[in-house]
Amino acid sequence: MFLGHFAVGLAGKRFAPRASLATLLFAPIFLDLLWPIFLLLGWEHVRVAPGKTAFTGLDFVSYPWSHSLHMTLFWAGLIGMVFRAITRDNRSAIWVGCAVASHWVLDWITHGPDLPVWPGGPRVGLGLWNSVAGTIIVEFLMFFIGLYMYLRVTRPRGSRGRLSLWSMVVTLAFLYFANMRPLPATLSERTIGLMGLLGWMFIPWAWWIDSTRRTVR
Ligand SMILES: [Zn+2]
Repeated sequence: MFLGHFAVGLAGKRFAPRASLATLLFAPIFLDLLWPIFLLLGWEHVRVAPGKTAFTGLDFVSYPWSHSLHMTLFWAGLIGMVFRAITRDNRSAIWVGCAVASHWVLDWITHGPDLPVWPGGPRVGLGLWNSVAGTIIVEFLMFFIGLYMYLRVTRPRGSRGRLSLWSMVVTLAFLYFANMRPLPATLSERTIGLMGLLGWMFIPWAWWIDSTRRTVR
């Protein structure tokens, strides 16, 4: 899943208004921020396998450290506690921890049975990706709800507050459809890892959005 994780981040402003959007977005996409790093380190593996599911030609051969359920709960607890230690904001810390864990639940719904329950354990996944239409409907519906909730509780500080947010929305939609094109079979694990690192750019971008919009209650 891609847009669905961003939906959780945007919706977070409603539940943890004092946290920066950068934090609120960082939490639900965190596992996908770790993944390219672990690919580049050679700790996890992916390959191109056209038709693996209807929606993606990526075969997630092994990703126990970023995407197993047990490790997800570890990361969720760790990030929630670090956030709590820095901010002393219990409510936001609970949201942030749950948002990290939400990634696994949403990936479990979308992926084929390739998500390990624990490193080396059984692999699960409900396979929404077997339906292109189903995937697009679910992800865009989630994204529109998340965006709507974010718009309800924030207002732009002038034109920069509109530019910062809507440029990200357009970029996400563009990346979503660009990623749907068939992948070249020659695409290496290293290239996939390097491309995956682009996900990190959304953290400073979300920080920019947060600094150009105010929260209203
Ligand atoms: Zn993921």
